Amino acid sequence: MNKTIGIIGGGIVGSTAAYYLSRSGYPVILFDEGSGQATKAAAGIINPWFSLRRNKPWYFLVSQGAEFYRKLMLDLDSDGFDNGEIFQIDGALMIRKSDKRYTKDLFQAEEKRSQSPSIGNVKIVNPQDFFPYLTGANQATYVEGGGRVDGEALVAQLQKAIIHFGGQIIREKAQLTIQDEVIQINSPSESVKVTKLLLAAGAWLPDLLAPLGYQTDIRPQKGQLYSIKNDKWKNKHWPVVMPSGTADIIPFNNGTIIIGATHEDDQDFDLSVDSEQLSQLTQEIAQIAPEIAEYPIDQTKVGTRAHTSNYDVLVGALPEHENIWAVSGLGSSGLTSGPYLGYQWSQLIQTGKNTIDPDMFPIDKHITRLN
Ligand SMILES: Cc1cc2nc3c(=O)[nH]c(=O)nc-3n(C[C@H](O)[C@H](O)[C@H](O)COP(=O)(O)OP(=O)(O)OC[C@H]3O[C@@H](n4cnc5c(N)ncnc54)[C@H](O)[C@@H]3O)c2cc1C
Repeated sequence: MNKTIGIIGGGIVGSTAAYYLSRSGYPVILFDEGSGQATKAAAGIINPWFSLRRNKPWYFLVSQGAEFYRKLMLDLDSDGFDNGEIFQIDGALMIRKSDKRYTKDLFQAEEKRSQSPSIGNVKIVNPQDFFPYLTGANQATYVEGGGRVDGEALVAQLQKAIIHFGGQIIREKAQLTIQDEVIQINSPSESVKVTKLLLAAGAWLPDLLAPLGYQTDIRPQKGQLYSIKNDKWKNKHWPVVMPSGTADIIPFNNGTIIIGATHEDDQDFDLSVDSEQLSQLTQEIAQIAPEIAEYPIDQTKVGTRAHTSNYDVLVGALPEHENIWAVSGLGSSGLTSGPYLGYQWSQLIQTGKNTIDPDMFPIDKHITRLN
């Protein structure tokens, strides 16, 4: 119990893991450099059940993740960390290209509800009854359990809790050495030996592992979004709107609406705002909600998502080092699956087991020895 547990990366994965370990009394040290973090930039839609993606391991994580949010919020709340507006369940409206998809949505809801009770009621609706600006759409699937989360606010709250429970956060870039099975983390102001380590470094995982002789199949993807604001939108409890393209509309009850996000695979770790990309989002939104598209941009956010070459999630023990776990490649749904994965690692540390089946997530497909 008195051996230090290390975590590198303080996005949603690392911060959730550190939260659960520190609240159980484990000595945790979390290193987070912070720039470009995907979590801080994320739009935050939590509505994974109706994706067209056919990937069972991925679906397992996101559906478990959506259920897990309810527990995470209760736990934070019971620890005295008010999460009032951080995670809101006001439903989701999915606007489909074809009528057939609406029928399929209803079928899928029935199929998945027993495993994922948080889906709630699902029905075909007139979208303007739920979000009055949707004058360009006449039908939508409404998912009662759809939600959205403010990633930046959630991580801030988790980190407050980590410190409250005695955990340590070092806001610096860390490096890793392993010699004779001894794991050591070094940053400009700290040097610490740890018994167990979580690498939750998002798109930067390859940089951490290269000096140890590993090649890591993780690539950066730039994501940009913007927000618009109006006091008259406060406390409306509007659902998230998911049209068939890339641009979603994510209303928050504080009067902010987020429009996003871009998926740019060719921009490396660039964090500059590209107004051309943002105006493409606006053009997409104009087709279904022309009045929303007229509002001036209030704020922009840019972050770097991590993905593997085949978009599989990377999770599990590092080849040859069972005390080091890595989680990355969560792509554009990592705010949904991330807390669950962080929690599962904390369970492994505490109980020696968790629900992540290594056969489902063969990590050696994505992390290999260079020599
Ligand atoms: C614009 C945008 C919109 C998104 N929208 C959604 C959405 O609607 N729904 C959804 O589910 N997901 C969404 N995502 C995806 C989601 O945000 C990510 O998949 C998730 O946040 C990844 O979390 P993470 O903890 O793995 O990585 P990150 O949040 O990237 O955190 C990794 C952290 O590690 C730090 N780090 C890296 N290397 C080191 C080092 N050597 N030393 C110290 N620190 C280090 C980084 O600085 C960073 O702070 C979106 C992402 C973006 C960018």
